[in-house]
Amino acid sequence: MYSTPHATVGLAITSTTLLTTQDMTLTYSIGIPLAVVSHYMMDYLRESNLKENTLLYDIIPYILYTILGYLSGYFWLFFFSGIAGNLLDVIDKKLYFAIVYSKYRHTSIMKKLLKYKLFQWASKPSLFFHRQKTGINFSLNQTKASAIISLIITIFFTIILSKTNPNLF
Ligand SMILES: [Zn+2]
Repeated sequence: MYSTPHATVGLAITSTTLLTTQDMTLTYSIGIPLAVVSHYMMDYLRESNLKENTLLYDIIPYILYTILGYLSGYFWLFFFSGIAGNLLDVIDKKLYFAIVYSKYRHTSIMKKLLKYKLFQWASKPSLFFHRQKTGINFSLNQTKASAIISLIITIFFTIILSKTNPNLF
């Protein structure tokens, strides 16, 4: 699954923890690890490749997710929930360099970088946390819809959280 749905599921877990416990320490110590684990489960939903639509259906939605976090009064909760929800990709895709590399592998700057061992290593995604062989295949339209639904869910949590006291901790 793409980064916005992962962030939203992470946020849903941490927000629910916060609303239930009313305790930011518990939210971070329970909610964040669960958000990390949620990534593995979510990846059984197998996305279609957005290709040239990635900007519109993943990068811009993630920016909107971040703006909503700012508006909610819980920017850092949104920020860390998004990272936690995506952590297994951040690790296996080497801070996303492996994706950037696969897209721009023919450019001269990439060819220069690939002379260095660090970048050779970073150009190859690992599979530590991505061994799912089965799952539910999403069509391109379903993959696009998952970004929209994620934003609607994020707006829902933004509204609920903004009504609570942002100075809980
Ligand atoms: Zn993943």
